[in-house]
Amino acid sequence: MTSPLNAVITGSTSGIGLGVATAFAAEGWNIMLNGFGDAGEIEGVRAGLEDRYGVKVLYNGADMTKPEEIHALMAEAETAFGQVDVLVNNAGIQHVSPLEDFPEAKWDAIIAINLSSAFHTTKAVFAGMKERKFGRIINIASAHGLVASPFKSAYVAAKHGIVGFTKTIALEGAEHGVTCNAICPGYVKTPLVEKQIPDTAKARGMTEEEVVQKVILDAQPTKQFVTVEQIGALAVFLCSDNAAQITGATQQIDGGWVAH
Ligand code: NAD
Repeated sequence: MTSPLNAVITGSTSGIGLGVATAFAAEGWNIMLNGFGDAGEIEGVRAGLEDRYGVKVLYNGADMTKPEEIHALMAEAETAFGQVDVLVNNAGIQHVSPLEDFPEAKWDAIIAINLSSAFHTTKAVFAGMKERKFGRIINIASAHGLVASPFKSAYVAAKHGIVGFTKTIALEGAEHGVTCNAICPGYVKTPLVEKQIPDTAKARGMTEEEVVQKVILDAQPTKQFVTVEQIGALAVFLCSDNAAQITGATQQIDGGWVAH
């Protein structure tokens, strides 16, 4: 592994993606941020990471539903850094609804952002990684890549899909020094989870407090949320030389969720 590494992290203006980007910057790696949000706030995050860790931090606001914008994002990263060594496919959205009412547009958006975008980003960097005999691809899947919950049909389908994609890319990269793994978090307190509490309350006929206690934390035997720092540290490890033989794996970090 050469250092510093150059990393692209999709959906890194918030939550888990920002946690991973911060952990990478702390390692001295250059970062391409991506995601939506207030332009001033994003610039504050970008400049803040650059100042704090003395690394190069870029931002490209490509919409993960638009392949041509994804291609431009990956091309910008390759031009600016010379090469991309680490790709974290993290951008994702959620929608909670019984199937009968599930909006078709939401299904399409979730499949595009949570699954298809990883195909486009990976395709853009895979040949270069194989040629250089080093690459780390990390897909932020979910416990919902391994088990299901009701009312999350599109999300569970996309997350199971990305686990399958992870295994396939692991096999294609195996003899070329390129690993591909999925991190499968349980509940992390990010805007994605906070936003689904009212909808889950409606779908299950519960109060929002009951959703937190009986649905969210009930799923995790530790009764604690996973933190973005814990996921960032796991991602850093998966990029290390010691993780060279970890590929095609689904790394659970879920307080014991899928064990029961
Ligand atoms: P978040 O809402 O905090 O962050 C999502 C990020 O994706 C943001 O930066 C947002 O701007 C970006 N994004 C959304 N739509 C986009 C689009 N069309 N194009 C580009 N960027 C887009 O959510 P999070 O909880 O940090 O989720 C990050 C990933 O982790 C998702 O894939 C999610 O499914 C997964 N995950 C989250 C949890 C959890 O409990 N929070 C658990 C398991 C897996």
